[in-house]
Amino acid sequence: MSDRTNTPTKLVDRFGRTVDYIRLSVTDRCDFRCVYCMGEDMTFLPHAQVLTLEEIEQVAAAFVSLGVKKIRLTGGEPLVRREVIKLIQGIGRLDAELAITTNGSQLTDMAPALKQAGVNRLNISIDSLQEERFRNMTRTGKLPKVLAGIDAAVAQGFDRVKLNAVVMKGRNDDEVLDLVEFARNKGVDVSFIEEMPLGQIAEHDRSEVYCSSDEVRAIIEPRYPLQASTERTAGPSRYYRMADSDSRVGFISPHSHNFCSECNRVRVTVEGRLLLCLGNEHSVDLRETLRRYPGDQERLRQVIIQAMDLKPEKHEFDLDDEPQILRFMNMTGG
Ligand code: SAM
Ligand code: SF4
Repeated sequence: MSDRTNTPTKLVDRFGRTVDYIRLSVTDRCDFRCVYCMGEDMTFLPHAQVLTLEEIEQVAAAFVSLGVKKIRLTGGEPLVRREVIKLIQGIGRLDAELAITTNGSQLTDMAPALKQAGVNRLNISIDSLQEERFRNMTRTGKLPKVLAGIDAAVAQGFDRVKLNAVVMKGRNDDEVLDLVEFARNKGVDVSFIEEMPLGQIAEHDRSEVYCSSDEVRAIIEPRYPLQASTERTAGPSRYYRMADSDSRVGFISPHSHNFCSECNRVRVTVEGRLLLCLGNEHSVDLRETLRRYPGDQERLRQVIIQAMDLKPEKHEFDLDDEPQILRFMNMTGG
């Protein structure tokens, strides 16, 4: 190990970008099978390969000690992991903003406990407001349950609730305005996401359904003119405001508006693989360090600091090529 006395308290990569945001995947499992995210028959990881809740908390603490200010828990569906609330309570005590990305299926039961545990922000994914279509897109999801979950989240008064929708041509692009209106009525934000080529999925041709953020914007503008907002969160969304609403409209555009130059985040998969970029395979195995040197937080910090040198300059997503990235989004942590 290198000199342990001069550990920096900030993570900076070779391109001068400071990393102050981490996304931790707490499970690869999910109660849904969204068509763009998973195949119908998924094989999930054996438990021994998955970080324990204690290990995940240790990783979170190491990053916070290195200047990370925002942690997002994701998956898979983070809220289906057994006893996940214990982990959330532990991470909630760290000095960082805590956000969760969820499909909303567990929120009617869990929203109060999440708020109490110190969760600041919730992103809830919802691609359709039509029950049958929602079931088709998620293969197993029940829309009324998710809608009730959104209401439960709003009732808790989190700092921010945001809806996320992946827009696909011919599947749900006709619902863009409905989703904006729904967000306005609930007093929450909404972000529209361009689909990313993560994992190859049978019967799902990504280039056929690709819908750019500019196309989504063109659907919204005639009804609700959008004013570009200078506000940024730690994430990749570009935000717009509407004149007569507090709800913001965001766009996450990995294809059309490459956001790599401002990238401030890294991901940790549920196997403990520190992924330096969503669109590349550069990674470091934190599980090895966690298990070989249990409780050695300083060693873990050193491994994380050294990993920053591997962060690539940008991702290479190209819809026309074979998928460059073979791991699925549920493995990566969206
Ligand atoms: N299960 C939770 C959920 O659905 O919100 C958290 C994990 S999910 C992988 C996180 C986000 O990634 C969701 O908003 C989902 O729509 C999005 N997502 C999944 N696969 C994607 C893909 N191939 N391209 C773009 N977004 C994707
Ligand atoms: Fe599950 Fe989220 Fe992937 Fe849908 S997008 S299958 S809810 S992990």
